[in-house]
Amino acid sequence: MSDCIFCKIAGGEIPAKVSYRDEEMIAFDDISPKAPVHVLIIPREHLATLNDPGPEQEGLLGRMMTRAALIAKERGVAESGYRVLVNCNPDGGQEVFHLHLHLIGGRKLGPMA
Ligand code: 5GP
Ligand code: ZN
Repeated sequence: MSDCIFCKIAGGEIPAKVSYRDEEMIAFDDISPKAPVHVLIIPREHLATLNDPGPEQEGLLGRMMTRAALIAKERGVAESGYRVLVNCNPDGGQEVFHLHLHLIGGRKLGPMA
């Protein structure tokens, strides 16, 4: 998608602090972190929301989740704890319409809204 900011980050057109990349996903620091560790994990493929993946993307979604756990370990928050979440559509608080996992940790997180 030519006007999607996360597609542009995945394509290297917009800079980001990328900490992981492979053929199907990349991970980078959130520009406005909500905690000491705030990483976004996105598929390279443009999927707008969590409503969009089909059965063919189930493996990808699973690998994004296990990648989140590996990054949590790398960042030193695996044992202290962290949160992985997906915001979907306006009521879910989604602002960027390219599917992403938030990995948030490094401080005590409050209860879910
Ligand atoms: P959402 O609300 O869609 O779940 O989360 C979007 C996230 O993307 C927000 O936490 C926001 O700070 C982050 N974000 C928005 N634009 C950029 C950007 O250009 N670069 C980076 N690294 N993060 C961004
Ligand atoms: Zn996109």
